[in-house]
Amino acid sequence: MAEQNLEKLIGRFHPRRTYKSGEVTVEVDGVFVRVDEETRIENGRVFVPIEDFLQDSAIIRSARVSTGRDTLAINEKAAGLIGSLYKDSHVTPFEGGAMFRLRVEAPINIAQPFFQLPGSHNEFSGRYSVIDGEFSMPEHIQKNPEASEIFLEAGEDSKEVYKKFLDASMAKEQARFAVLFSFFTKFYWTVSLRHLLEICALEENKFAPRGFWDTRDRIFKKILEDWTPWAYDKFLEFPKVYKTRWAEEEADEEADDGIFTELVENIGSFRLDNCLADEKLMRRGVKTGPSPKRGFGHSILNFSLHYPIFVHRQWVRHRYGAWSELPVDFDGVVNGFDFYVPKYFREQIGKTMSYHYEDMERGKNTEMKTALLDLISRSIGRYWRMRQLGFSMADSAACLPYVFRIEALWSPNVEGLMNFFSLRCDSHAQWEIRQFAKRIYLLFARLYPWANEIFLKHINYGTIETDET
Ligand SMILES: Cc1cc2nc3c(=O)[nH]c(=O)nc-3n(C[C@H](O)[C@H](O)[C@H](O)COP(=O)(O)OP(=O)(O)OC[C@H]3O[C@@H](n4cnc5c(N)ncnc54)[C@H](O)[C@@H]3O)c2cc1C
Repeated sequence: MAEQNLEKLIGRFHPRRTYKSGEVTVEVDGVFVRVDEETRIENGRVFVPIEDFLQDSAIIRSARVSTGRDTLAINEKAAGLIGSLYKDSHVTPFEGGAMFRLRVEAPINIAQPFFQLPGSHNEFSGRYSVIDGEFSMPEHIQKNPEASEIFLEAGEDSKEVYKKFLDASMAKEQARFAVLFSFFTKFYWTVSLRHLLEICALEENKFAPRGFWDTRDRIFKKILEDWTPWAYDKFLEFPKVYKTRWAEEEADEEADDGIFTELVENIGSFRLDNCLADEKLMRRGVKTGPSPKRGFGHSILNFSLHYPIFVHRQWVRHRYGAWSELPVDFDGVVNGFDFYVPKYFREQIGKTMSYHYEDMERGKNTEMKTALLDLISRSIGRYWRMRQLGFSMADSAACLPYVFRIEALWSPNVEGLMNFFSLRCDSHAQWEIRQFAKRIYLLFARLYPWANEIFLKHINYGTIETDET
């Protein structure tokens, strides 16, 4: 019976690698494989018993550890066990038991919501590499000759300015300001089966773009069906819907003044909305093991951020805290000329991994600034042409360069903040995000002198560079 059960599972297991929907490609780059000292290696090939490779049986082993039976082979009760775990939301075996390392290629505007999802992300960097390839042109744009003309024109214009910037030895991290909000990015996303199942059960809402939901429905569900057929059966048999549309109906809250607002150069601003940080509590909390710095986690600060998109996309990678990326009113961005144009452009001198930056000579700097300003003006023209054709703000924004500002709410705790300071006040961080990090650090140091002392002496692993230290 046990073998028959395993045979059935093997018959439905399709370890496909590549999945495509529209402009998004997802590859299953890796899954968990059970390690066994008995594993046979012959002529450079590893022979793994299929049971050790199947993700469904990994769920079962993770669940059976509670009763000490985790080493048992898959038996006739296995599929039923997956069902009862899923139905009753005992989902940690789906989290620790089965993992997928996915390689995703997607237009940046569709990829963005992925970085709000649980898991680990490693993304292509426009700071270190040249962004090449075409820009996104979704099917509904292709079908409209005027819109596709605008997209093509926007793409050519952007490529020309980007090239001009690179030819002027501009730092790649700034040259990418000329790239449109429709370039293709690539990243590895390591995510558990539990989280994939949760995402598949989310009620679709307007906070993420259509392309994201299509990817979820046409790719993620197919991956589950191919790689974890039993878990997928149970997902269908016991449907769950995590409601999300209620949030669309919430009236927009007027932000109050917060505690104070600080402008950060001409880059953007942050507002400290609230702080629930208490040094007494932190002092009590740090007496914990094995990692006492977790005690700093009891204190939380709330910030509203208004900053360029590229700064956001670096910042949002600090997962240890709550993030809300607020819907962007692109008409407002364009009307208010809410774009970042640096005062100074930097040249990148030297080879990869050992370069440094120098401010551009004045005449060259003015030329680059004019080129970026002109590109933004032409892009604004295209944005309105798209809007006049009846396209949504999100569709039209694909023609805007990568320097528009957005708003987000960020609530880190002090432990997460310390990690942020170590990494982002550091000289390796991009200058623009570093300016925010420095100012928030100075605020933190003033508010919490004891925590700051511990941070500087024992926790910081970066080079805090502030004008005041
Ligand atoms: C100079 C620089 C260059 C970079 N280049 C790239 C690049 O090319 N490509 C790229 O993809 N990324 C890049 N990054 C981003 C980087 O890889 C990290 O994603 C980012 O710095 C966030 O760091 P973190 O993971 O330590 O922060 P966090 O995610 O905030 O983690 C902070 C701490 O919390 C813990 N933690 C995290 N999540 C949880 C959780 N859910 N529960 C409990 N604890 C948790 C972590 O163990 C860690 O100790 C770069 C960052 C810097 C500073």
